[in-house]
Amino acid sequence: MVVPNVNRMEEYQPTGYNPAVEEMRWEQYPMLDGTIYLDHAGTTPYPKSLMDGFAQEMTANLFGNPHSASASSQLSTSRIEDTRLRVLQWFNADPAEFDVVFVANATAGAKLVVEALRAVSGGFDYAYHEASHTSLVGVREEARSSICFGDADVDHVLERPRSGSCTLVAYPGQSNMDGRRLPLFWSAKFRENWSATSGKMYTLLDAAALASTSPLDLSDSESAPDFVVVSFYKIFGFPDLGGLIVRRQAYEIFDQRRYFGGGTVDMVVCLKEAWHASKGQFLHDRLEDGTLPVHNIIALDLAMKIHTTLFGGMARVSAHTSYLARRLREGLASLRHANGTPVCMIYSKTRDDIPDKSLQAGPIVAFNIRSQHAAWVSLTEFEKLATAKLFHIRTGGVCNPGGIASALGLEPWDMKRNFSSGLRCGAENDVMGGRPTGVIRASLGAMSTMEDVDKFIAFVEEFYCDSTPVNIPPSLVTQSAKSVSDLYVDSIIVYPIKSCGGYKSIVARDKH
Ligand SMILES: *Cc1c(COP(=O)(O)O)cnc(C)c1O
Repeated sequence: MVVPNVNRMEEYQPTGYNPAVEEMRWEQYPMLDGTIYLDHAGTTPYPKSLMDGFAQEMTANLFGNPHSASASSQLSTSRIEDTRLRVLQWFNADPAEFDVVFVANATAGAKLVVEALRAVSGGFDYAYHEASHTSLVGVREEARSSICFGDADVDHVLERPRSGSCTLVAYPGQSNMDGRRLPLFWSAKFRENWSATSGKMYTLLDAAALASTSPLDLSDSESAPDFVVVSFYKIFGFPDLGGLIVRRQAYEIFDQRRYFGGGTVDMVVCLKEAWHASKGQFLHDRLEDGTLPVHNIIALDLAMKIHTTLFGGMARVSAHTSYLARRLREGLASLRHANGTPVCMIYSKTRDDIPDKSLQAGPIVAFNIRSQHAAWVSLTEFEKLATAKLFHIRTGGVCNPGGIASALGLEPWDMKRNFSSGLRCGAENDVMGGRPTGVIRASLGAMSTMEDVDKFIAFVEEFYCDSTPVNIPPSLVTQSAKSVSDLYVDSIIVYPIKSCGGYKSIVARDKH
């Protein structure tokens, strides 16, 4: 396998490893040929060498269902356990302090935590940050009480808990809406503020967006979150798999979980008595119900290795994507209509807007477009045109209700009114009451290039920058009603699709 890689660049530049990606992209990511993919926050593409390597693994080996004595079964088991260790290494998590549970996706990881908390007697209280993805918001439905907190509330979000209660505090490491990164030290801070007499408190970090283009370092287990959820497909493109990383001090919560399934029990008595003994050696043994996604896990091992060969580690991916995001943001921010007004209203912050300089903004630019008359451009129209021009981009509420509400200044009643007026996730009405109901989200990934960014900026400029000022000439303003008959129609152009070429018909130039 010949794999060009970024490590060949002597030094890595502040501009990222662009030349190296340009060199390998056609070979490694042929599916990106002829398109501009800007939805890496949805999922990122997988490299060809991963797919080829995976096909080779699958055909060269016999992998059985794990947990039996056959050689094929043993092979699966050992590959799974190797991968588990490598996943922990990927996040600098000491296997003595953390375990990783394989799940379908980040959402399934959060649901597993909820399943355990649901069984706590007296229930649990829940606090989640407003930048949370819907997957974290939904947890509140299982909680005894819940609050959604903003940055200003971080210091007192845990005030006055019920004594003997159990509380879960959750937030994203990065917003999937605008790329904003939230401080990782919050977990430690919540833990510090918590008074032990008030019962138990656990922290959940949703790292699905953060980990996709940034290193996540769990080496300090004292300050680490109790639960971390990730989506591996967002980092590597393939396999479709997620992980729940659990800190040792939080293992106890799963003692409460009631359900068990194949793979997680040592002995089950059914007929005259209902009794079972859960597996006990490792946490993951108790939580991975049913047959593991064996082949996905083997693919994950390969995905980590190949990603490192191609990109040289997450720190480099982070530097590259941060550079591109800055270029994209600045490019869009610089676009002006002829009358001087900005074309894009950008919601994503830059590094300069962030007080905590240790935090970078993730490679996501969320924005809306306005005409020079200050009318919002319809997201649906934008998406149709972008699609026609072979851009892949996400628009709408992007599964982040709190983030959208605070970016767009939508109050709960605005959102309910919009819902009553027919607004639905994925539906086509997107400017309501004169205001946008969602955003355009351009997100970058490890194999994005400057050319992707520049082409997108050029696209917005070509179709959305009004180059003729709207100023109405004084001669027209002062024209009397009589002289209107001096005007004539020269031609009519019909634009069936907004911003695409129109049909022109010349009208007879016969002025009477
Ligand atoms: C994508 C994403 C999720 C959901 O991940 P799934 O893999 O779809 O479960 C949750 N939170 C954030 C921040 C995300 O970006």
